Amino acid sequence: MSEKVFEIAILGRALWELHSLNNEGNVGNVVEPRSVKIIDPNTGEAVTTDGISGEMLKHIHSEFMWLLDGKENLCDACKVLQPERFNYVIKIGKEKPSTVEEAVKKALESCDICDVHGFMIEKPTVARKSTIEFGWALGIPEVYRDIHLHARHALGEKEKKKNDEESEEIRSQMIYHRPTRTGKYAIVTVFQPWRIGLNEARQDVYSYDGERRKERYQLALKAYQLMFTRPEGAMTTTRLPHVVDFEGVIVYSTKPVPVPVISPLKEDYKAEIKKIAETIEGIEVLEFKGVADFVEKIGTLLSKEPYEMNFGGEK
Ligand SMILES: [Zn+2]
Repeated sequence: MSEKVFEIAILGRALWELHSLNNEGNVGNVVEPRSVKIIDPNTGEAVTTDGISGEMLKHIHSEFMWLLDGKENLCDACKVLQPERFNYVIKIGKEKPSTVEEAVKKALESCDICDVHGFMIEKPTVARKSTIEFGWALGIPEVYRDIHLHARHALGEKEKKKNDEESEEIRSQMIYHRPTRTGKYAIVTVFQPWRIGLNEARQDVYSYDGERRKERYQLALKAYQLMFTRPEGAMTTTRLPHVVDFEGVIVYSTKPVPVPVISPLKEDYKAEIKKIAETIEGIEVLEFKGVADFVEKIGTLLSKEPYEMNFGGEK
């Protein structure tokens, strides 16, 4: 029997150059990059740095899961990436669960994404917490930020200029400002394989058998592999990130022990994690240096099994 995995944390530093993955929104014709305030753990000083929200990262992960999925294991909402997930299936009357427990069971049985990424149902009211969690990706000071000026040019504009139709030119030409950022980002994410298929409306019942749980576990890991080789977010049509590096640790537990999460904002986070792993039984650490090494190390987890809690009760 191969090793069972209770939880996995990926803690690392990603170097992304000239990207614009996440923005605050528009102020006039200027797109503002996301800013957050943090305490730099290495200096103790409060600093403003660059951030990519956990929502954005979670969205990237779920899109890759969708891409990899055979689609026959998705609910009608997730097949088309409808953000309401299983709530939509109930709303359109395709499923009519009468109890909370039945609603969660139906969702878990029919959909890989609902199971792994969580959902909320209005009637009957119940929420399934995501098995995958992302913190903000935080720029390790210093992140370099620039706002670039661009102009949208209309065809035939030069001709118009010759004819001195200046007002027409202004209408067809729009000046706008776009941000780019370059920096190392601290990544924190936790995946809880032990909760795959667990009907939390009862908390002591898995909704389906072992093979499907393993397939979903593998899908989630493969989506992790892809998202760090190819981060997709805002503005990638003209701000496709230059992916340069990703280094850090994959921490996993083989017993019902929550994995430690120490922020890669700290210079010595890897040493601290390793020390914790030596002290607490059942915690393993895989170090990775570079994107290819990360993909390979996550690959070694694919052959393992998602942990199954034995509740001792009837199934
Ligand atoms: Zn779904």
